[in-house]
Amino acid sequence: MSARQQIFPVFVPHLGCPHACVFCDQRQISGQTQPATADTVRRALIEAAAVPHTGAQRQLAFYGGSFTAIPVKEQEALLAAAKEGIDAGVIDAVRLSTRPDAIDRETLGRLQRYGVTTVELGAQSMDDEVLRLSGRGHTARDVEEAARLVREAGFTLILQMMTGLPGDTDEKCIETARRLIALRPDGVRLYPTVIVEGTALCRLWREGKYREHTVEDAVRVCAQLLPLFAEAGIPVIRLGLNPTEELSGGAAVAGAYHPALGELVKSRLMLERARAALSGVAPGSSVTLSVSPRQLSQLLGQKRENLARLKEEFSLSAIRVSPTGEKEDEVRLLPENSEGGVRNSE
Ligand code: SF4
Repeated sequence: MSARQQIFPVFVPHLGCPHACVFCDQRQISGQTQPATADTVRRALIEAAAVPHTGAQRQLAFYGGSFTAIPVKEQEALLAAAKEGIDAGVIDAVRLSTRPDAIDRETLGRLQRYGVTTVELGAQSMDDEVLRLSGRGHTARDVEEAARLVREAGFTLILQMMTGLPGDTDEKCIETARRLIALRPDGVRLYPTVIVEGTALCRLWREGKYREHTVEDAVRVCAQLLPLFAEAGIPVIRLGLNPTEELSGGAAVAGAYHPALGELVKSRLMLERARAALSGVAPGSSVTLSVSPRQLSQLLGQKRENLARLKEEFSLSAIRVSPTGEKEDEVRLLPENSEGGVRNSE
């Protein structure tokens, strides 16, 4: 997304939210404490005007609340201020995120009039029990209906999904991904659950009523989800919460908070590809794997942990990696005595 779009975010923390979703505290997640007004939008446009055009589409983005559930008058004040930016050539379009049960044809018509081109829907799960336990206040059916309306109206549709919510399992996450793929979004965001201080989820966790979705849990399940979206040709435009000072400074008390979660997941996928390439290799062998130069660090893993795991699992005497692969996402076992840009594991 970033290669073709420049995003100028305006956070509307919790504006419009009719429910307190158990995991959510947008003030800490977004790092913004004040609700946005038309003046906030105008200030964002002044800052955007100072940013050089790169040829990418420039979008003002309303994030962090349920935009279309905000009272219509306030929505229109925010949208009208954003439209001034379109009319002045500062931005090209507006995008926003909202809830699936706050979408209907009339609402979508309003968004179109003000230059909104992308609608992000917080689906989170397609399992009604998980949605209920998470305090979402909508059903999977609402997600399907909203996605259909957004697509029919010609918007770019982005779906947000979470893993590790109360009542969730890996199987439910995979089923959610399949059902989201069936809605043919233009992209998805994956947010493994983070336990944020002060939320209902934090209280449930401290009372022992919710089991933490660890970084390892998130890596395991997301490594199963990414290939599903890739096979369907649907880009995953974000994996994991954006790090903020609040979250890194202690607000993220547990759960799947890691500033490089996406890299960890890609690294796990490379580990699995390496396992497949090494299947059948005799114990005691000295092997060389090839990988594309861009994915060398993903194959090595953090602190080279992937190589250490492979060496132990396959009882290898040595393992080397050669960044000479020509294809992305491919790990190949090179013939014995292959050299060239070889990097030793030990
Ligand atoms: S998850 Fe969305 S709808 Fe729920 S409280 Fe947070 S911003 Fe509001």
